[in-house]
Amino acid sequence: MMPLRMTPLDSWICRRTGLAPDGEFTRQDLRQYQLERIRQSLAYASRSSSFYRRQLDGCGDFSRIDFNGFASLPFTTPEDLCRDPLEFLCVSHREVARVVTIRTSGTTGMPKRLFFSEADLESTIEFFRHGMSTLVRAGQRVLILMPGELPGSVGDLLVKGLDRLAVKGMVYGPVRDPADAIAEILARRADCLVGIPVQVLSLVRHPQSARIPPGFIHSVLLSTDYVPASLVEDIQRSWGCRVYQHYGMTEMGYGGGVECDAHAGYHLREADLFVEIIDPARGRVMPEGMSGEVVFTTLSRRAMPLIRYRTGDMARFIPGACPCGSPLPRLDKVRGRRTNEVVLAPKIRLDMSMLDEALFAIPEIFDYRAEFLPADGCSRLQLWLHCDVQRLPEAVHRARQALAGVPAVRAAVDRGVLAVGPIRRCTENRFTTGALKRTFIDRRQEEPA
Ligand SMILES: [Zn+2]
Repeated sequence: MMPLRMTPLDSWICRRTGLAPDGEFTRQDLRQYQLERIRQSLAYASRSSSFYRRQLDGCGDFSRIDFNGFASLPFTTPEDLCRDPLEFLCVSHREVARVVTIRTSGTTGMPKRLFFSEADLESTIEFFRHGMSTLVRAGQRVLILMPGELPGSVGDLLVKGLDRLAVKGMVYGPVRDPADAIAEILARRADCLVGIPVQVLSLVRHPQSARIPPGFIHSVLLSTDYVPASLVEDIQRSWGCRVYQHYGMTEMGYGGGVECDAHAGYHLREADLFVEIIDPARGRVMPEGMSGEVVFTTLSRRAMPLIRYRTGDMARFIPGACPCGSPLPRLDKVRGRRTNEVVLAPKIRLDMSMLDEALFAIPEIFDYRAEFLPADGCSRLQLWLHCDVQRLPEAVHRARQALAGVPAVRAAVDRGVLAVGPIRRCTENRFTTGALKRTFIDRRQEEPA
């Protein structure tokens, strides 16, 4: 067996942090570096942003703060960002190179806005350059199924990062017509695809997918959303390629972490981000290995630093060293979102990853939407499937069986607090623009029309 290649983030982070130029560093060295950067970020944010000046007022002397002291500082929430994004801005408007507006599904309906300076975008380009070197080598071609027309958009930064590897990045944009995207893969001789999981699945499960010979595509990077195991297996089997996962969000500067050849968790951008796992109810930092909410602090961000930002994503750190040999920590697969679960009864919670695992294992289904409605004192789960019209009866039948196999659904049905159905075919355009993650639609509290 070939030895695993060490994550390329290892040597990059060594250089960025100035730790052991021979590449030998310990996790302790890394934490010491991060603590120093945390102190600087706290001082910078509380000096330059009106939000943090208020939020961190009276929190003491940041130049000597330790990890315990840091763990007692208040969190920043997505609602804080929605309320007044300008309060977070630490540079003049002239120095803002990119503004990203994200529509949110929250109750306020206020969009989130994020500001990045040229230097902030540059650090993302470097992350993409080093992260992508796991997947591609010089001379190869990458088709990017994400937005990229605007300067500073995710696709644009990815093209710039790939260019530094002598790899050609080609922005296609989000998939709206799978047959057209498949034709482009062939015409542009794409060795690698970067896309949103359900969109890549829509290509793999399309009849035209058979036109792509096995081995034509060498690698696929899936990003921005939860990735069910069945989806990875389907892509690997159909195209005979390696599948890697990326974890990130716009707030992180798009990029957060990427898998290495061991496919055993994400190695993170440790020089730019400090990630904590907290108990979402009490706010305490969890012991290593325990699951909780992902919280991050930016270590190098100029335009809009974020201190202890609550992502809503649930995950854990995997204890021990990675089989690739790097001492860099690994974040385990994100198991769902705190904001993307429904409580069906006390102690019966259903999160979207549970339905994803069950429903994406059905080959007839390309995507789905789950709505929860009120029904005689209990909840009703209504499902909209994206599938070929000819295969609808089979898809509905299998979806019913799959739902019955989800423990939380079964328990709720047995207890009489959940009814399932109807299951119908969705005819709307199913695709998001890439910035929005897929969510449950919970209409149980809405007033009847
Ligand atoms: Zn690794």
